[in-house]
Formats: sequence, structure tokens, C-alpha cells
Amino acid sequence: MKYIIPGYVEIERNGERTLVTSNLLKNKIKLTDFSIRQEFDDIVKAGGRDEISTDLTRLLYEQEMLQTRQEIDKIVCSLKERMNKSLLLTIMPTEACNFRCPYCYEPHENITMTSDIVEQIKKYIQNMIDKFDNLQISWFGGEPTLCENIILDISSCVKELQTVRKFNYAATMTTNGYLLNIEMFIKFYEVGIRSFQITLDGWNHNETRPHISGIRTLERIIDNLRKISTLSSEYEYNIIIRHNILDGDQDFSWYDYLSSLFAKDKRFSILVALVSDWGGTLVGSMPISEGKNRKQLKYAHQAYIKKIGLTLYEQPNDLFSDICYASFPYGFVFRANGMIDKCTISLNAPENHIGRIDAMEGIIIDPKKSKAWTEGQIHQKCYGCNRVLNCLNISCKKGAVVDNMCEKYVCKTFYPNKS
Ligand code: SF4
Ligand code: SF4
Repeated sequence: MKYIIPGYVEIERNGERTLVTSNLLKNKIKLTDFSIRQEFDDIVKAGGRDEISTDLTRLLYEQEMLQTRQEIDKIVCSLKERMNKSLLLTIMPTEACNFRCPYCYEPHENITMTSDIVEQIKKYIQNMIDKFDNLQISWFGGEPTLCENIILDISSCVKELQTVRKFNYAATMTTNGYLLNIEMFIKFYEVGIRSFQITLDGWNHNETRPHISGIRTLERIIDNLRKISTLSSEYEYNIIIRHNILDGDQDFSWYDYLSSLFAKDKRFSILVALVSDWGGTLVGSMPISEGKNRKQLKYAHQAYIKKIGLTLYEQPNDLFSDICYASFPYGFVFRANGMIDKCTISLNAPENHIGRIDAMEGIIIDPKKSKAWTEGQIHQKCYGCNRVLNCLNISCKKGAVVDNMCEKYVCKTFYPNKS
């Protein structure tokens, strides 16, 4: 039987001591004795031990820092069970949008949720909430702010439910920000929506994010954000300003401008993303960076943001943080047309349509189709990967389910033990 150091264990060597930290139990061991540190280094070099026979191996084993692959499998299994306690709903109240961004992959169909569907969603949340510890609602579209009333209706129902049931609730919204004036923002805030992602594409914004009528959009969104920023610190929200960058975009004066507006307001942060072929019909005409350039370009933007004191948005590093909502057993996308999907990218793929919201019968899910999005073993590489607890090798199942890639698909990014 082979015992290995799992990827969730981090090793820090610092002069006369070696610090071993587990991201699973959040426990630490400090090794200071020279011969013990040497024994530890030998274990790392050999990729583990065949038996637990010394004081050090016993200690590491007790602390779950030296484990067999079967034991790591069990840990992964129990973590997956915890995912059953979260209801993650992405709600698209409409598939229409008031923008026409050339890189957008959505069909912009002019469909808005009927009141029957809205009622069934409320009923579902009310009936199911006792099964869960956490409810997260992500408002998405189309452009969700076109449906203010639906958002307020469902969110108020959840707020009311919170007065009689105990569960953690978080609500977020992805919006283009054009209609999000301060009055609308306060209404959303009061029903519990506290996190917003709004895209501002730098000095290119009016070309890459035009209004459906062709008019400019940047100035109005900036005006909305400036006013929202005047709200007192009692308003504890966060706004992530996403910047989609194109190849060759090296004009950092955009960040100087943002800094003049929001650097002092820590509720605002900047997320740098690279434009990719997400499936938009016009994306082919846009300069998209490729290969090594992509990483370098992104890094240069991030470094500048940090240098001038703006807050850079970085992916959290918690348990499950790399895992898409689609991989959660109770992660569903409720679409305006009544379809239930798992993934918000593959909107036309039949494998993605795992159920529907029936006006009379409510939520109907095909368990077999749904399961295909959540199942998966960890790969050989994952045992030693530093992100194993964040990812569980189910970070994104689109490749396996929609694109017919091998079920044992493993990501291209492997993060070895930090040592
Ligand atoms: S492409 Fe992957 S990560 Fe993105 S929404 Fe779909 S399943 Fe999730
Ligand atoms: S799929 Fe990749 S990132 Fe995820 S645990 Fe495995 S090796 Fe690590």
C-alpha cells in the first residue's frame, strides 16, 4: 500500500524549519529537528512511503497529510456530499438584451418569463429550502435589469422565507449596468442582491458594447456607478468591473481613469478577462490574443491595476471555488423559456437541457441527464494537485458532457504540491 502526500498539503521551507499545512483540516505541523526534516524531504522525493512505521509517518498520517489514494477518494466523496446542501440557481428572467456585443454567444431571443413560471420557481424554493444549508441566486440573462419586477418578486419571496427558515443566502447579478441607476440598485440591495458584475471594456467600450440602437453606453454606466459609489459605507455591496481585453490592448490609461473614480472605494474591484471565441457571430472579426501572449497580456494588466492601488478581483481560494454551479447536483439554470439547463454557455446543446418548468406541474428534472454533469472521478494527476479541494476534477463538465471529450478528462492546468 502506498501512502502519498496529497496535493492539498502545502510545504514551506524556511531556514531551519519546514512548515507543513493541510488545506483540508487547516492544520499545520512545524518540523525543526534536522533528521526529521531530512526524513520528510526523503518522503517528498520518493513520492510517499510504502508503510507507516516511524514517528513522523504516524504523525503525518494522523493529521491526514499522508494518505492512500483510497483514503483521498473517500475524502473527495464526502466533500461531494457536502455539495448536496447547496441550491445554486441561475435565473434568466429574460433572454432579450438591450446591448449587441459582437463577442456575445447568446441568441438574444425576445423571451421573458411568464408569471406562471415565476410562481413555480417561488414554490420550488419554498418547498425545497429545508433540504439545503445554502441558497445562492445568480441573476443572469439576456439582460436581467429589463425584468426588475421579476427579480424583486422572487427575491422578496426568499427574504420572507428567511424570516421563518434558517439558511445562508447570497444573491449576485451579471448586468451590463446600463439601466442600473441608483434607485434600482437600492431596491435590489434591499432584497439581498449584494454582488454585481458589470463589464466596462475600456476605451473600446462603445465599439464592443453598443446599445441595440447603436448609441454609446459607457458614459451612462459610469454615471450609474459613480452615483452608486456615493452610497454610505453602511451599504455593503461589491461591484466587480470586468474588463474584456483584446489582443494588443496595452493602453493602461483606462485604469488611471477608473482609479480616479473608484480607487478609494474598496467595494469596487477590477476583473481582467481575455476576449475569447465564446461563440458570438461577429467575434471572428475581433483581434483575439492567442497562445503565450494571452497570459502575458493578462498579467501586464493585472500588475498595472495593483501598482496604481485599484483592487484587483481574484478568484477566491476556498473549498469548491473552482467548481462551476453546473457541477453541483442542485445547480440549475432556470431560463426565461421555461427550460432548465446546467451550463450557461451551451445554451443550444440538447445535453444541456435537463428539465423544464411546467406551468402546472412545476420543476421537472431528468435525473439521468442531470447526473452526467455532476459525476466524475479524480484523475491520477489530481491526487498530487494543489487545487484538488477547489476542483475535485469537476470544475467544468462541458467538455465531457457536450463536447464528447473523454470522461476521464483532466484539465490542462495541473498544480503540483506547493513545495
Ligand atoms: S462552460 Fe463550464 S464553467 Fe462555463 S458555465 Fe458551462 S459548465 Fe460551467
Ligand atoms: S482536474 Fe486539474 S486542477 Fe483539478 S484537481 Fe485535477 S489536476 Fe488539479
